[in-house]
Amino acid sequence: MSFTLALVGRPNVGKSTLFNRLVGKRLALVDDQPGVTRDLREGEARLGDLRFTVIDTAGLEEATDESLQGRMRRLTERAVEMADICLFMLDARQGVTPADEVFAEILRKKSAHVLLAANKSESNASDAGVLEAYALGLGDPIRISAEHGEGMADLHAVLMPLADAFEARALEQAPATDIELTEEEAAEGEGPLFSRSKPLQVAVVGRPNAGKSTLINRILGEDRLLTGPEAGITRDAISLPVEWKGTPMRIFDTAGMRKKAKVQEKLEKLSVSDGLRAVKFAEVVVVLLDVEIPFEQQDLRIADLAEREGRAVVVAVNKWDLEDEKQEKLAELKEEFNRLLPQLKGAPLITVSAKTGRGLDRLHDAIVRAHEVWNRRVPTARLNQWLTGMLEAHPPPAPGGRRIKLRYMTQVKTRPPGFVVMASFPEKLPESYKRYLVNGLREDFDMPGTPIRLTFRSQS
Ligand code: GDP
Ligand code: GDP
Repeated sequence: MSFTLALVGRPNVGKSTLFNRLVGKRLALVDDQPGVTRDLREGEARLGDLRFTVIDTAGLEEATDESLQGRMRRLTERAVEMADICLFMLDARQGVTPADEVFAEILRKKSAHVLLAANKSESNASDAGVLEAYALGLGDPIRISAEHGEGMADLHAVLMPLADAFEARALEQAPATDIELTEEEAAEGEGPLFSRSKPLQVAVVGRPNAGKSTLINRILGEDRLLTGPEAGITRDAISLPVEWKGTPMRIFDTAGMRKKAKVQEKLEKLSVSDGLRAVKFAEVVVVLLDVEIPFEQQDLRIADLAEREGRAVVVAVNKWDLEDEKQEKLAELKEEFNRLLPQLKGAPLITVSAKTGRGLDRLHDAIVRAHEVWNRRVPTARLNQWLTGMLEAHPPPAPGGRRIKLRYMTQVKTRPPGFVVMASFPEKLPESYKRYLVNGLREDFDMPGTPIRLTFRSQS
């Protein structure tokens, strides 16, 4: 279980230095487009035994068109939205400056989970600054020196219980193992186990001009409840809060981010990396295709990525209003989909027109349903009944005369569903047999469009 930590604070407090120390060379996404997406960097951080994602809000030197403060504020707000925890950094040698106060205020307003770090604390000269930091009312400052690597054990000690808490919360959100679904609940994929407290996180991804902006604008237009301070900043934010047809959602707007790009020829590359970022943060990924040019290389890449990242996927074919031969086209699309994206077998394929609004009801329902399936938990007893049936229908092979035994299975996780099968000689089990089981799970427990993780553990 991991979490996301955002490094926030005014320029020059040492955010990049700490980022580099935490991430080393393990930078997951390198944005080399100046002034476009470079403002938020993220990487996979390591601190002792902790693994987490770190977001850096540095890189403000490129500020040209807006005031530094406005830009920094927006950036910080964005980072706060993306993160579980914010590490608010100060320069301990300078103490608390008015600019620091501004950032502290943003963090308070956003009710972010904040940790305070007094950086550049390697010498006694910073003692006074550390004391001042207490006055911010953001808890005890952690003394660190990003440059010299001091205080990392203290940072670890503070993050550790939080990491545990996030893990516990994640487990809490996952339904308990010992709750048995009634037949009806299992069939419907509904019931108390699937209730949701947080907004559903949706990313809309696709090639340039597929219609992402048009679709998101329409969804926002349908949201009659969008009010309050956030309304004004939505178009600029990385994710937009919306209550769409009664479902609270956060929609990651990759198009809005891309539209800021000025360099035309970089667009293709950019929209992919924005897409990557959105996919990482989403629960459900809507792959938006253009009916006139569906299943382009780029579409396939992002759909595959969503699957590998374990996201629920809904494929939406946009600009359906332009299509005359709707029946034929739909059959053709379905065939292509199954051929080109076998790993997403059974994922919903919805035809929509972002322009006219046709099909958006079905898109909404498909998103909600995909999310439910992604959260689905199958009781162990039913799984094992099922496994027995599957083994009887098609016994596993007996390489070298020795039959591979699949003894029992259980679901170990949700989001997406993950199962473990205890087996003898699992390493000998052919891929085709694993596919047989995964496809069986998908069909028999009605889990279309969600990646299913099946692993085998050795037990002879
Ligand atoms: P950012 O703008 O917040 O990302 O800050 P940087 O990471 O670019 O750091 C600004 C300056 O502070 C650089 O010159 C760093 O070398 C320096 N710096 C960062 N951490 C420390 C530290 O722990 N001690 C000292 N003395 N300098 C530091
Ligand atoms: P993005 O780059 O994915 O954000 O795509 P846009 O939303 O900017 O749309 C690209 C173009 O496709 C624009 O000219 C839109 O008006 C057009 N468009 C978007 N959705 C539809 C649709 O459902 N039908 C038709 N005919 N055109 C659409």
